Amino acid sequence: MASAPVRVRFCPSPTGNPHVGLVRTALFNWAFAKHHQGTLVFRIEDTDAARDSEESYNQLLDSMRWLGFDWDEGPEVGGPHAPYRQSQRMDIYRDVARKLLDAGHAYHCYCSQEELDTRREAARAAGRPSGYDGHCRELSDAQVEEYKAQGRTPIVRFRMPDEAITFTDLVRGELTFTPENVPDYGIVRANGAPLYTLVNPVDDALMEITHVLRGEDLLSSTPRQIALYRALGEIGVGTGRVPAFGHLPYVLGEGNKKLSKRDQESSLNLYRERGFLPSGLLNYLALLGWSLAEDRDVFTLDEMVAAFDLAAVNANPARFDLKKCEAINATHIREHLSTEEFIAACEPWLRAPHAPWKPENYDPAAFAALAPLAQTRVTVLSDITANVDFLFLDEPVEDEKSWQKAMKPGAEEVLRTARERLAAVGEWTAEVLKEAVQSAGEAHGLKLGKAQAPVRVALTGRTVGLPLFESMETLGRERTLRRVDAALARLERERAAG
Ligand code: GLU
Ligand code: ZN
Repeated sequence: MASAPVRVRFCPSPTGNPHVGLVRTALFNWAFAKHHQGTLVFRIEDTDAARDSEESYNQLLDSMRWLGFDWDEGPEVGGPHAPYRQSQRMDIYRDVARKLLDAGHAYHCYCSQEELDTRREAARAAGRPSGYDGHCRELSDAQVEEYKAQGRTPIVRFRMPDEAITFTDLVRGELTFTPENVPDYGIVRANGAPLYTLVNPVDDALMEITHVLRGEDLLSSTPRQIALYRALGEIGVGTGRVPAFGHLPYVLGEGNKKLSKRDQESSLNLYRERGFLPSGLLNYLALLGWSLAEDRDVFTLDEMVAAFDLAAVNANPARFDLKKCEAINATHIREHLSTEEFIAACEPWLRAPHAPWKPENYDPAAFAALAPLAQTRVTVLSDITANVDFLFLDEPVEDEKSWQKAMKPGAEEVLRTARERLAAVGEWTAEVLKEAVQSAGEAHGLKLGKAQAPVRVALTGRTVGLPLFESMETLGRERTLRRVDAALARLERERAAG
């Protein structure tokens, strides 16, 4: 059987900041569409006026662009099923709800919340299923008149078929839901507002979606949606073909609890601000339920697209591991960027108005000289600031801990000797500078490692950093000697003070 071209959708609600779970869903849909040369539909599910905001909508689009996703239909690109914002499709939903009512697939439910609660409690106490009990399924005309006379406004409820619903989940295999576990459910509020339960499958039907890939938290809505889908087919909405469903595993955070929007490490903005590469972050998120090969944690998006297969998605919950996410990002920075790309990627931090140095102090040539050394050492791009701030600050940072650690007894003598030898250096190159410091150490019976610690702290303020002699070469003779002098002066003061 020739299968229809793949059409998948990514359909978030614009509420709050995007979180990594959402990005994982987008990634799997995107990779699946690309792998099958299919179509990715980007749809905005903004029917909940109380929770959706324009700001979140803009942020969502901005995030998708930053991650490097493209979509074939949706906001900014349009498409044959426009509009792609549900808030602009209300007429469609009203019309479909009416047709479902007319065909008997849905009915008006006049039950008040209080009545529903009371009956639910009673059912629970009696050990019966506690979902909606079908009270309004077959109301008489007289009953309806009476409810209206009481001033009740009904919701619209979908009539679930009285038979089990079975489908083959692309990740989890065959699943069956029995009727008592899937009661009739609301699709339109009493005020006429359509609910997610209606608009999501209606748009999937109208937009001819073939595969629904989404988080496991939505699994319980799938039998409802399949039933609704079949009803839509009967009344001529959409193709009548029920899409295939694949539910991606839960992502667990701290303490094996489901990673929630409230968890710090779930906010996409955080990764962006820290300077993750989109490719590094996405590489890691791909591992939350999928793997390229047994022993391959690091790969490019192209490699993922080429290999992506839903059959390889694991149904077991995936654990979010920030350390691993960072390690993979570091590898991407090191291996997947040219020096020029790395420099360009760092610029937003180096030229940021809130950078710790005066903007006019930033010196692109000095940075370029050390960039290859920095590239192998940063985990996230924001690390770059602490690696090169000694180049652009007027004075090195004051890190008291580093000072105490490096300026032990004996440090002053080594530093003083190093000062003399450095001042005498002819050609100011890393190699010569190393020899100078090495010989200064030897004069005091110290290995290079020990001898260079006070020099490093004098120049950079820190005990750790980029290779010292290259740093010194870039810093230049004049600033190097001045900083060593300043450190010596401080040591003298401290000695005098006892
Ligand atoms: N707007 C829904 C959500 O963000 C989409 C769910 C789905 O993929 O069906 O949860
Ligand atoms: Zn009712």
